[in-house]
Amino acid sequence: MLKELPYLVYADEEGQIYTHPYLKAVGKSGEQIVIPQPEDFIPLPDGSKLFFLPKCPPVGYDEKRGHFYLLETLPFHKRKPCYGVAAFMAPGYVRCLLPAVDYADKDYLLPLWAYTAVGWYDDRYWVPAFLIEDNPHWHPSQYDDRTLLPKVEEKCRRFPNNRLLQHLRICATEYHCFAAKNAFYERWEFPVPTSPTCNARCLGCLSWQEPDSCEPSHHRIEFVPTVEEIVELTVPHLLYAEEPIVSFGQGCEGEPLMVGDTIAASIKEMRRQTSRGTINLNTNGSLPDVVEKIIDAGLDSIRVSLNSAREDLYHRYYRPKNYALADVKKTIKLAKERGIFTMINYLIFPGFSDTREEIEALKQLIAETKLDFIQLKNLNIDPYWYVRQMQLPYTAGIGMRRLVEELKREFPHLQFGYYNRYLDKNEK
Ligand code: SF4
Repeated sequence: MLKELPYLVYADEEGQIYTHPYLKAVGKSGEQIVIPQPEDFIPLPDGSKLFFLPKCPPVGYDEKRGHFYLLETLPFHKRKPCYGVAAFMAPGYVRCLLPAVDYADKDYLLPLWAYTAVGWYDDRYWVPAFLIEDNPHWHPSQYDDRTLLPKVEEKCRRFPNNRLLQHLRICATEYHCFAAKNAFYERWEFPVPTSPTCNARCLGCLSWQEPDSCEPSHHRIEFVPTVEEIVELTVPHLLYAEEPIVSFGQGCEGEPLMVGDTIAASIKEMRRQTSRGTINLNTNGSLPDVVEKIIDAGLDSIRVSLNSAREDLYHRYYRPKNYALADVKKTIKLAKERGIFTMINYLIFPGFSDTREEIEALKQLIAETKLDFIQLKNLNIDPYWYVRQMQLPYTAGIGMRRLVEELKREFPHLQFGYYNRYLDKNEK
């Protein structure tokens, strides 16, 4: 554990990263700069990435003078601009603070990553964050392409006409999606993208962005796989894979409820052939009637995504077409009442999710729906843009750690984590 704050890190125009000799690393909660405690920092987890932020000079803290300093130029070259640095953490960790940079000159949108404050101390990088779930199934060491590629070739030979498998091949080998790689390793969570369309227009959608926005990070599936294509891949997975989960609703598609009939028919057929494994649906939860049909077909768990438990802030982010947050809540409640494992995928952002108004709204949602599990997902988005689009007030949150502690105290049965669960049938 750190006994003092780490040092500020900054970058030049080429992205070369340097450490400041005495200014300390701080962070932002929403738009407000905050000084973290040294113990808020953990070593940057393995598998994380670093980014430099062009045209965004960093802010450092001079502890002796008690002042913040904006580094507009490089300390060792006063005519060259100085840029901030951010970390994108490996999965399983909750980001507590955003990078402390000045966005006044930024004239572009940052691509869709979860930017986290970062500093340097004792020969390593440190981030204000904490681990929420450590699941060895998702460690990068489990996904070595040298072992993957022969499996991809072999499986594609076995199912030469399956378009879904061709799509997963690209996800596994070009986008390096771990879940898609599992489809070829024939283990754990198998992703099933099905829907080319959506009934929302999320600001941070990974598979669709307005032409004047940033690049989406995923290529959206362009066809609806047939029931036969889905079943011929998923039934062997359910039957033979270790801790199998078949999961509809992925980053490389629209909203799976738009093709609810295909999903329900596929699940019915899977469950006709085997009761083994977990069948899960990741969804925006917009259409409770369609969810009910899918539950009737044999769904085991559901994960409903939302950025906020407040109507206006939910709408500002999701920009839903013909549905409202009330429908999403209805879905969560319905799922729980129907006895399936019920999760939310809570898209968290320091200075928003940990504000008193949001916490109280979330508590109300938890109490009303009695959901089982919260996945805490750092929202992948340009922080400055999100703050502006959500019209957040200039106030800091109480802290992400305190948010989780408060929820744990108030809802002792609620589970917290990061990944979908394999349910053995006694757990349901
Ligand atoms: S609900 Fe999902 S697919 Fe639809 S716009 Fe939002 S993130 Fe994209």
